[in-house]
Amino acid sequence: MTVRTGTQYLRGLHDGREVWLGGRRVDDVLDEPVLAGAALTVARLYDLQHDPELRHQLVREDDDGVYPVSLAAPRNAQELRARGQAYRTTASATFGLLGRSPDFVNTAVTAFSSAQEFFSRTDPRFGRNVRAFHARCRESDPFLSHAAINPPLNRARASNDQDDPFVHLRIVRETSEGLVVRGAKLIGTLVPVADEIVVFPLPKYAKGDEAYTVAFSVPVATPGLRIVCREPFVADPTRLISTPLAPYEEIDATCIFDDVVVPWDRVFFHGDVDAANRLYDVTTARHHTGQHGIVRGAAKAELLAGIAVALAEMSGTNAFLHVQEMLGEVLGFLELAKAGILAAEADARTSEWGTLTPAIAPVMALRYHFPKMTARMIEVIQILGGGSLLSTPAEEDLRSDLWPAIERFYRGADGVSAEHRVRLLKLAWDATGSAFGQRQMQYERYHSGDPVRLAAAQYFGYDTTSLLDTVNRALRPAPAAAQLQQEART
Ligand SMILES: Cc1cc2nc3c(=O)[nH]c(=O)nc-3n(C[C@H](O)[C@H](O)[C@H](O)COP(=O)(O)OP(=O)(O)OC[C@H]3O[C@@H](n4cnc5c(N)ncnc54)[C@H](O)[C@@H]3O)c2cc1C
Repeated sequence: MTVRTGTQYLRGLHDGREVWLGGRRVDDVLDEPVLAGAALTVARLYDLQHDPELRHQLVREDDDGVYPVSLAAPRNAQELRARGQAYRTTASATFGLLGRSPDFVNTAVTAFSSAQEFFSRTDPRFGRNVRAFHARCRESDPFLSHAAINPPLNRARASNDQDDPFVHLRIVRETSEGLVVRGAKLIGTLVPVADEIVVFPLPKYAKGDEAYTVAFSVPVATPGLRIVCREPFVADPTRLISTPLAPYEEIDATCIFDDVVVPWDRVFFHGDVDAANRLYDVTTARHHTGQHGIVRGAAKAELLAGIAVALAEMSGTNAFLHVQEMLGEVLGFLELAKAGILAAEADARTSEWGTLTPAIAPVMALRYHFPKMTARMIEVIQILGGGSLLSTPAEEDLRSDLWPAIERFYRGADGVSAEHRVRLLKLAWDATGSAFGQRQMQYERYHSGDPVRLAAAQYFGYDTTSLLDTVNRALRPAPAAAQLQQEART
């Protein structure tokens, strides 16, 4: 039992998987620049586990063996904070731009395993399967991806009421070998370069949807599983001055299951609408992946706030009051994001599964407000960058005969060199305005569900007792004041 290196991870990708990109089947994902770029970034994260400076943060060594911290269920405050630190290390290595880094689904699977009994209620075999799968992940340290959403054929209708019964992923039949499933799941971020895909239901399934409620894991290279990549946003990932964030192009994909056989020992759950709707909350996967999400978000806020400050200082606009206000505003967002993490950890409670579980209210608060904060940070960067964001030369120009002119006309304030200024402006645009930057915005908006329904869930899940007590207290005259008035009258 050990944690893998980047090279070991990359070698595992030569497995005959069926990945489609730009109208053709990919022979080897490592031969495709965009997919290879994503894989190399993931490989670097695997290598961090062997970095002498970071290993103690990312890897747990105990009586159970040697495995990533994200596969350890936190039992006390120290372990919860340590896991938060592990997330921070990974997120800061990728500037919070890789939402589905390997620690994300590891965290969900660990929560599922702790809640083994939840799965056993449907069938004791399933509880054992979840547990055994988690143990196998600790053994072999695979890169797990996930796809939980059904295609939006018609969101106004239940899965069993769609025009085509096999668009939403559905069980076709049960055999002695396992479940046969057909249909699609999305959005499978990084699935093309992952080892396994974990599928599970998210609310809201309706009565009659039993055949659509299924949770399992299969290798990406499973016969009948076709992975269709979205069109890449980065044309050439080697142009690191023009598109400095290209290594974090986290390719998204749709996963099409064409009568895929899911062996029984890989089935975690099926055929129970009520349990399917409660799975993510009751197992506390939502809480634990929520901690991951807000830590990653704070790392991105650091990058965006840093870009805003650097832009203003580079052009001398930080001397103006309205710019100072905008910088204070984005720094305030960063602090709110960090405070939410502390609150989720400080108010953690031991769940019915015996794990210390981050408080959901701060997680939900950030899930709703962070996209708005991100949108404003993007706006501030674009306001501060002004037209300069759209007047940078190509990276090839920096190495051409144009250089003397570029050196003269593209400089910044206080001795900032032309090359540094051009690079910073390109970074600012890549983080906010390029297709890559826009995808990052859309990721923040939707990665953990529809923000409208998330906010409503915050309201329904919130204990408002003390708030209403406060209102009632405010409606009553303060006894001391009433007594004082009476005494004054007599
Ligand atoms: C970049 C990116 C990466 C992602 N990566 C992953 C991943 O790796 N794995 C994964 O499983 N998921 C992933 N997600 C998917 C994410 O879970 C979904 O996008 C999210 O749950 C929202 O679902 P949806 O996109 O189908 O939008 P919908 O739920 O269809 O919502 C779209 C709009 O329709 C409205 N709407 C839809 N249905 C209803 C309804 N019943 N009631 C009221 N309003 C409704 C919503 O309010 C919203 O305005 C990713 C998303 C993005 C954007």
